[in-house]
Amino acid sequence: MEKHKESMMMSLGYNPEWSEGSVKPPIFQTSTFGFKTAEEGKRFFEIAYGKSQLGPDEQMGLIYSRLNNPNMQILEERLAVLEGSEDAAAFESGMSAISTAMLAYLKPNDVLLISDQVYGGTHHFVHHFLKDIGVEVVVLSAIDDVDTIMTQLKEKNCVERVRMIYTETPANPTGKLIDLALLEQLKSTLNEHTAQPVISAVDNTYLGPIWQNPIELGTDLVCYSATKFLNGHSDVIAGAVMGSKEHIAPVKGLRTFLGGMIAPYTAWLLTRSLETLHVRMDYQTKNAAQIAKFLEGHEKVTRVYFPGLPSMGTRQNAIYNNQCKAPGAMISFVVQGDEEGAFRFLNALKLVKLAVSLGSNESLAQHPFSMTHANVPDDEKLSTGVALGLVRLSVGIEHVEDLIDDLSRALEQV
Ligand SMILES: *Cc1c(COP(=O)(O)O)cnc(C)c1O
Repeated sequence: MEKHKESMMMSLGYNPEWSEGSVKPPIFQTSTFGFKTAEEGKRFFEIAYGKSQLGPDEQMGLIYSRLNNPNMQILEERLAVLEGSEDAAAFESGMSAISTAMLAYLKPNDVLLISDQVYGGTHHFVHHFLKDIGVEVVVLSAIDDVDTIMTQLKEKNCVERVRMIYTETPANPTGKLIDLALLEQLKSTLNEHTAQPVISAVDNTYLGPIWQNPIELGTDLVCYSATKFLNGHSDVIAGAVMGSKEHIAPVKGLRTFLGGMIAPYTAWLLTRSLETLHVRMDYQTKNAAQIAKFLEGHEKVTRVYFPGLPSMGTRQNAIYNNQCKAPGAMISFVVQGDEEGAFRFLNALKLVKLAVSLGSNESLAQHPFSMTHANVPDDEKLSTGVALGLVRLSVGIEHVEDLIDDLSRALEQV
């Protein structure tokens, strides 16, 4: 019987016999690896640069830590298992993962379709850097119907040039869900018109890989800020991209030259975090569900965003039931009194820390309008639900009674 993913996180890709019986993989803190012979070094480079393929009984060797390193490889094997993908590429940050994946596929004059609510850093990279180098960016504000989107794209004269569809679901910060199955239909329709196959990419940072598996729905590339739930201890910046070997190859290829690969120590820390991922996400999600219920009934709170809540609406909940296994641990909510109300609340928190980032074992709260999404134009923020009174809460593993007590006390200050 093939073992469950949780069990595989304890040993996959490493054998204690290789390192003096050390149960945990050591940190291979080295920049370079010795070759046994010059011929061996020559052979490894032929394979690394794609001049030749590995033979059936041949194994790739270690060369130099920008190309490969045992800690990066152990981590990547485990990430691929968690995601249910053939391959994974690990990066030194989520932004490095996302920007490298985009640059690996997008060239000037290509069209990138992107959903209207994405992480602030992704938004900046796409709307400034990619546009500046000549990539045409088309924002999809409604993703409800393939025909409507196709009509819009035809009007813009860009159907044949679409190269990538990039979305984030649940979207940061309002948790809006995007129908990934519908995007795959859009991709197939576009593929009838494009010279090269369209690549679909999803930022799965909020729910994946435990609660949402875009690969199962047909997504080509799954991107992560591994800084968040994957690491889960607010002590590492890291990123990852998962997909088939074919889809990951250009991403790893470009990573070698942009140099954003994960460092040995970062990879080691993240490998350790993956051992507890399912336990943490499960517990955090249970805490969050109780807190969402508490917030929904609170007089100072005018709106709660949390996947699956009846107030999210029938269309959103239909997507939720189709592609998510659980709501996750991110809650956004609007307090009375706009920015002043939100700031009074945030300043009064004691247990929950006032900080950006998310997915950690400690609870964190922040004000998206003025913090993580400060750089998004105000009208765009307001039209996508990023209100002045919106607070984003990432629920940790503290005792839920203490969390509700802290939130309750802070809401009294609103
Ligand atoms: C944090 C975050 C990123 C960026 O990741 P870094 O690790 O900070 O570079 C990208 N997408 C989402 C959804 C995030 O929350």
